[in-house]
Amino acid sequence: MTDTADTAAFEAAFKDVFGRAPEGGWAAPGRVNLIGEHTDYNDGFVMPFALPHTTRAAVARREDGRLRLHSADMDGGVVDLAVADLAPGTTEGWARYPAAVLWTLRRAGHAIGGADIHYDSTVPVGGGLSSSAALQVVTALALTELNGVRGISRQDLAVLCQSSENTYVGAPVGVMDQTASACCTEGHALHLDVRGLAQRQVPLDLAADGLRLLVVDTRVKHAHADGAYGERRAGCEAAAAALGVPALRDIAFDALDDALAALPDDRLRRLTRHVVTEDQRVAEVLALCEAGRTREIGPVLTAGHASLRDDFQVSCPELDLVVDTALANGALGARMTGGGFGGSAIVLVDAEQEEPIAAAVTRALPQARHFSTTPGPGAHRLW
Ligand code: ADP
Ligand code: MG
Repeated sequence: MTDTADTAAFEAAFKDVFGRAPEGGWAAPGRVNLIGEHTDYNDGFVMPFALPHTTRAAVARREDGRLRLHSADMDGGVVDLAVADLAPGTTEGWARYPAAVLWTLRRAGHAIGGADIHYDSTVPVGGGLSSSAALQVVTALALTELNGVRGISRQDLAVLCQSSENTYVGAPVGVMDQTASACCTEGHALHLDVRGLAQRQVPLDLAADGLRLLVVDTRVKHAHADGAYGERRAGCEAAAAALGVPALRDIAFDALDDALAALPDDRLRRLTRHVVTEDQRVAEVLALCEAGRTREIGPVLTAGHASLRDDFQVSCPELDLVVDTALANGALGARMTGGGFGGSAIVLVDAEQEEPIAAAVTRALPQARHFSTTPGPGAHRLW
């Protein structure tokens, strides 16, 4: 199917649901994080890139103050909300994410009213590849562009989406996922300093180096994930407070041993060691990519997985199985990506090793789904 035919089918789907034509269409990608896990809420460094998989939104404005939402990926039909009544805690299910974005935009003073929105997505939902951020960012970009909102940068949009998830959805997430979806560019990873939000686009041409990056979705999501995330985040804040710094980012790699000696218990020591060494690994991967030594990032990715498994303790048996199997079969590096307790792993391989390694992973974990990927574009208008 050509892109144009696909766009026509997507417009037709909007018409089927809402009985009129959309005013425009937008797309925002999911992401994988190459390195820098659980560092964003420690004011540290991350290095995600956008997947070619996107969530699309076809949108038309409404004059009657209703927000009507429909997703091809969700049962339950149209969710019909009154824009004036939007408030944290009042929206159920998936519609919380777009409702949160509109509520936050309006709270920031932007004159945005109701809309009909139809979504579809090729980002696996709940697979640790940020379908939620793609949904938020596509909504924020569509509503601001359609309503002629000026002076709001892509990074602003990402921060706004993060804040909407924190306040309205009630999840204490960092800003990485939304920034990746909003700000990534094709062929690049995005190096982001979360304190100050300085961005650097880092060329990442795996094919030129004879490499492939496999994404393996374990298709498990362990139930305690949300609570464990909050607990890790609170632990990091407690460690920073005990060390007298604003965030764990402020502990230099060279000063790690002194910091560990100053902490009162082993749990805080483990959390701190992960965050400080992970920031260091982001610096190493950045330097290797910028020097064109992409192949050498493999062991750094693998060290990141060990740190997430042993120190931060956010891996799970399925992720460990994927990583161990890939490495045992010749992968250059492998790690879980995203928050953990399920979701996806990334595996760096030589191109000719891609098929045998993918086959070995599938034998070890038959439910897993994998695809080979390269960095795609960030959020954009389709028509
Ligand atoms: P991830 O972001 O890793 O995919 P999350 O649990 O953070 O997983 O977000 C998944 C949730 O986001 C879904 O349960 C749903 O509420 C919402 N969501 C994501 N994609 C879509 C979509 N295409 N249509 C409707 N809701 C979606
Ligand atoms: Mg998410």
